[in-house]
Amino acid sequence: MIIKHKFILIAFIAIAVAVILTGRGKTYNRDIYGVFDTVSNISIHSTKDTTADYEQLLKKLDSQLNVYNENSIISKLNNGELCALPPELTVFLSDAASYSSYLGDYFDISLNPVISSWTLAEKNLLLPDDIKEKLSLVGIDALYIDYEANTAKIKEDGASINLGAVAKGYAANVLADRMRADAIGSALINLGGNVYAVGAKPDGSDWNIAICDPENTAQTAVTVKCTDSAVVTSGDYERYFELDGKKYHHIIDPKTGYPSDSGLSSVTIIDRDAMLCDVLSTAIFVAGANKAQEILSKFGGEAILIENNNIYYTDGLVEKIELNSDKYFLIPLQNR
Ligand code: ADP
Ligand code: MG
Repeated sequence: MIIKHKFILIAFIAIAVAVILTGRGKTYNRDIYGVFDTVSNISIHSTKDTTADYEQLLKKLDSQLNVYNENSIISKLNNGELCALPPELTVFLSDAASYSSYLGDYFDISLNPVISSWTLAEKNLLLPDDIKEKLSLVGIDALYIDYEANTAKIKEDGASINLGAVAKGYAANVLADRMRADAIGSALINLGGNVYAVGAKPDGSDWNIAICDPENTAQTAVTVKCTDSAVVTSGDYERYFELDGKKYHHIIDPKTGYPSDSGLSSVTIIDRDAMLCDVLSTAIFVAGANKAQEILSKFGGEAILIENNNIYYTDGLVEKIELNSDKYFLIPLQNR
């Protein structure tokens, strides 16, 4: 009799654990178009579908931060206006500005004058001839932020900012925090390749995030396991145009004003802070594999770098990374 009770108790506990792990809910999925110039997807495991709220949140962030939206705060700043900022954007903008001053040789939100020339070049299919002149307008000191008044202004003629390399990471952080506040224990956010895994999978296991093969984007090169973490990739295959048989991709080296040529074709950063991941994926893509460890030691984060046929990974990923293609070699970054 006692044995039978014990059995029932164990069965009950097992069912309770299973219910907690799978979180008595179902999966709701939503594709979102037209935010941050990319296609996004949100998948949550929950008892109710709150994905429409999250779409609204992303649309609001895009309308505030997108340089291509003429009513955004960023466009107004770029027009020389003194802009009132919601307090959370004062913090975001000053964080983005500090990253730009620390990492200015690789990552700089004030690169917009140069980026605009490249946008025009892509439209007209004509190489820009004003890069030197545009580079002289770059410098994060042009952006003044008043932390007490929550205002910002660009104080140099011709200077302007572009948050393309950092806004999706920031938005992923905001969305992940909002989901946690909504008690969602398991969700996957994908903002055009900026992935955030909130919690674990509904069954309690790690998420498996695949990273594109830069030479063939229909295939994947590696998979990385993660829980409650962002996985953000910058690659030369994501956005580019071709002219006279040469590819011009969208990540600019602030030292030259031209598409970076560090030898890396893809950089993925993994950390709980998606904004840091977004900044560092762009910065290390420009800085190159030689500088990667130094930058990571200073700012944190794990990394996967693809250089020719070698895939380098940092220590913390040793048990989490798996090769998907026999074209590549998997090598610890410290052995490079
Ligand atoms: P993606 O936006 O494709 O995920 P990134 O995060 O690397 O890729 O951001 C690239 C975008 O950021 C570019 O499209 C451009 O608007 C801007 N950008 C390009 N080079 C730099 C740079 N070195 N520092 C800051 N922003 C950059
Ligand atoms: Mg980035």
